[in-house]
Amino acid sequence: LTPVALPRRPRVLALANQKGGVGKTTTAINLGTALAATGEKVLIVDLDPQGNASTGLGIDRKSRKSSTYDVLCGDVGLGQAMQETAVPGLFLAPSTLDLLGVELEIASSKDRAHRLKHAIDELMYDQRCSDLTYVLIDCPPSLSLITINAMTASDAVLVPLQCEFFALEGLSQLLKTVEQVRAGLNPRLAIQGVVLTMYDARNNLSGQVMADVREFLGDKVYETVIPRNVRISEAPSYGKPALLYDLRCSGSQAYLRLASEVIKRERALRAAA
Ligand code: ADP
Ligand code: MG
Repeated sequence: LTPVALPRRPRVLALANQKGGVGKTTTAINLGTALAATGEKVLIVDLDPQGNASTGLGIDRKSRKSSTYDVLCGDVGLGQAMQETAVPGLFLAPSTLDLLGVELEIASSKDRAHRLKHAIDELMYDQRCSDLTYVLIDCPPSLSLITINAMTASDAVLVPLQCEFFALEGLSQLLKTVEQVRAGLNPRLAIQGVVLTMYDARNNLSGQVMADVREFLGDKVYETVIPRNVRISEAPSYGKPALLYDLRCSGSQAYLRLASEVIKRERALRAAA
């Protein structure tokens, strides 16, 4: 008898922060690429109606046949929505503007917060996706039902925090939401870590914010800090992750270091479980 391998759930991380412009999408794309480069098989789930992760990965609107809207409505599986990207080992479930209306559509259903969780649970039984090791969920800039779906489906939350004066403002609300999801919907939800983004070494404020955040959050903050780097902001307009656009730039190198920290933490979490 040949032993049958039990399906293994990928590690699911939600990139969440209700502030816009803090680096959620940039981190989803480039962390996803860096993880894929180290041999992980990664799916990015674009849950933002703006679809920046989809555009940034070169999947234009015309080619988004099935989207995360269809998935949350229960019309297609995540495996069906999943598309290849230019990065080997990196896949995308794109979003469309339809997602703006999804909350109304599912609000009255009992499993409204579990739609994405169920879709990810089913992935393991889809041959094309059963060997995925990571799912990264790019959340919209809100603590809406969409973000609640992401947190309910996730093992952990990864919080991008921009190095700016108001960095910590709003964080307590985000942490409260994590607590609420843990209490009611998903008791295993952890905080994977907080990543400081758009750090500017020439700006004293950036350094001060970094010190404050580390004092407040301790070792939840990754050692890797993502620098403000023009190559990072240029890459999406070419439909490419920064790591493909310019692997040597400081931003790409930082995302490679972040990926190894994320993997290290995942191993530690798994060993402790
Ligand atoms: P969010 O998804 O949280 O709204 P984005 O990832 O879209 O944030 O980033 C907001 C803007 O900042 C984008 O234009 C992006 O290209 C830019 N950006 C993100 N990270 C960096 C960085 N490290 N250096 C320079 N620009 C960045
Ligand atoms: Mg975004």
